[in-house]
Amino acid sequence: MNFILLVKYVPDVSRITDSSFDSETGNLRRASLPGITNPEDISAISLAKRIADRKADGSDKFIALTMGPAPASKALYEALSLAADKAFHLQNSRFAGADTWATAEILTKAIKKIAREEFGDEPYAVAGGMQSCDGDTAQVLPQTAAALNLPIISYAFDGDYRDRRFHFSCIKEGGDVFLSTGEKSFVLTVSSFEYPLYPSFSRSRWARVQPHKRLTAEMIGLEGSGMSNSLTKVVKIFRPKENQRKQEHITSLKEFSELIVQSCKKKHRRESAGRFVDYKPTNSSEVWVVCEPSDKLEECTAELLAEARKLASEIGGVCCLAAFDSPDQKFAEKAARAGADKIYRLPNCGVNENRERQGRMLGELVNSKKPKIVMFSATLFGRVAAPICAYITGSGLTADCTSLHLEKKSDGGFELIQTRPALGGNIMAQIKTINSTTSMATVRPGRFTAAISDQERQCELVDFPAALVKDRDIAVESQSGSKVSDFNCDVIISAGRGLASKENFEETILPFKKVLELSCSCSAAAGASRAAVEHGFADRNLQIGQTGKTVSPSLYIAAGISGAVQHIVGIEKSSVIMSINSDPGCPIFAQSDYYYVGDAVQSLNKIRGFLESML
Ligand SMILES: Cc1cc2nc3c(=O)[nH]c(=O)nc-3n(C[C@H](O)[C@H](O)[C@H](O)COP(=O)(O)OP(=O)(O)OC[C@H]3O[C@@H](n4cnc5c(N)ncnc54)[C@H](O)[C@@H]3O)c2cc1C
Repeated sequence: MNFILLVKYVPDVSRITDSSFDSETGNLRRASLPGITNPEDISAISLAKRIADRKADGSDKFIALTMGPAPASKALYEALSLAADKAFHLQNSRFAGADTWATAEILTKAIKKIAREEFGDEPYAVAGGMQSCDGDTAQVLPQTAAALNLPIISYAFDGDYRDRRFHFSCIKEGGDVFLSTGEKSFVLTVSSFEYPLYPSFSRSRWARVQPHKRLTAEMIGLEGSGMSNSLTKVVKIFRPKENQRKQEHITSLKEFSELIVQSCKKKHRRESAGRFVDYKPTNSSEVWVVCEPSDKLEECTAELLAEARKLASEIGGVCCLAAFDSPDQKFAEKAARAGADKIYRLPNCGVNENRERQGRMLGELVNSKKPKIVMFSATLFGRVAAPICAYITGSGLTADCTSLHLEKKSDGGFELIQTRPALGGNIMAQIKTINSTTSMATVRPGRFTAAISDQERQCELVDFPAALVKDRDIAVESQSGSKVSDFNCDVIISAGRGLASKENFEETILPFKKVLELSCSCSAAAGASRAAVEHGFADRNLQIGQTGKTVSPSLYIAAGISGAVQHIVGIEKSSVIMSINSDPGCPIFAQSDYYYVGDAVQSLNKIRGFLESML
């Protein structure tokens, strides 16, 4: 299989400090930050190389492609030193200012040209990291797949080639899914891969002298520019609010135990968006929520319905839910009580993991009904289906929003202002949609609160017979961990890589959870960081964070977790955060109310002793 490896040169967001910002304007001084090749792109190169090596017919070509100003060539050098045979650099002033839609368009034109000239009629795979650590949108690869009309395998973390098929292990909601595809072209996004490649000395020397073929806007036949083809526009950038956590260093484990008991007892009541007021739409404008595929109405969908209801009443419009697998009357009743006036029922599209099919079906529905606003939860499903739907409908999409509001325009209409974090949460950006009928957003779960169920509400059911995308050769071979853990509890004790082993997880975290339940008379659950899951300490359905679950308990205890931004986004709504870590400088302490410096296992065992003595 031939590969086009997408690599992006990004600022190293982990090195951003207060001095990286201009004190007067508040703008980030990008030039002051060191650059790196996006780490997930390196994982993608390693995974592509692994499956090509398994195929072992030696016929594969590896072409690296980047887009950006001159320093981006460093990413090409890295790709060449790891695996690539050739490198192409999309570098032109006309590419500047491209949003994800316009970037996908530029990449697609370049990929088609490279595939034509380098591979002839042979199939190829486009591989890249699931997202870049500066933009964090995860939109470009699904949009590129939509533009190329290729199937997408998303969130892969392992891969193989056997029996003339490529096999991938991928993350899915609450577990893993094992997919396979034949030797036709496809797009692959990689979430992580445990076996990185390291360049040899001779390969690095060879890479250093390889030319980077420059591709300009004219060479790929781009009309307009990145800026003029964009469907979104940044209207404002600002620093996030100061962290409100207490950040108290507790030096005695006895005191730490007492604080656990106090925090558990202050049970925080889940907020609600209140009850619906009597409301009759005054026009036919529609605000949509795309239902998280599930056999029940997920909390993240109910949260979005409450927000959609609010936005719809501001514009006098109708709140709609688009749901797959033609949900039944009982489901419709629940959705109506949560705020939906109308449900568009889309047919079953096979397996839930076929997010491309779902994105395309939704695209057909959006093209037909032309809603004003479409919201998805920023889940594993939403982060693939939304960009595909947005690309094929030509709609501006803002990923991972944390708040939404409407602003009045001079013509009397409204526009949606979407706020989202960027650069690893170091800045906030307000973005609006331009040049498109529909504004689309993926929204982080937990940002809005579901409304109090209104037993009186009813909704209209509309069947939409969208066509199934054919000609796709992606099979689900097996799945694991089908059930997402129930984190709707008072306290969560979560383990990170610092726990060091599965035994420690089982012998420390699980008994600790039981003691918490007994000593604090509360409901408790065990959780884990992604690193703990990927090292096999805990099951995938326990993962908390951006690609896991978002939680909001009264108390969250993080043991041996460093505090990466992707973990923090999943826990920031917890009332109290307490952490234990052996590194006095670890980032989780700045996100905690109380922290203890020490070995996670030893500390938890001692705390357990104190809690048991209180029984
Ligand atoms: C697109 C994307 C999505 C992601 N989604 C998620 C997600 O959903 N959830 C998530 O958690 N991560 C996610 N990540 C990964 C995230 O960036 C971090 O890599 C991950 O959270 C790190 O997990 P960790 O803190 O357990 O491990 P590490 O970062 O390796 O930290 C381990 C910590 O343990 C401490 N430690 C070591 N030994 C001990 C000891 N004996 N006692 C106490 N402490 C000890 C260390 O000091 C360190 O702070 C995502 C990353 C990307 C790029």
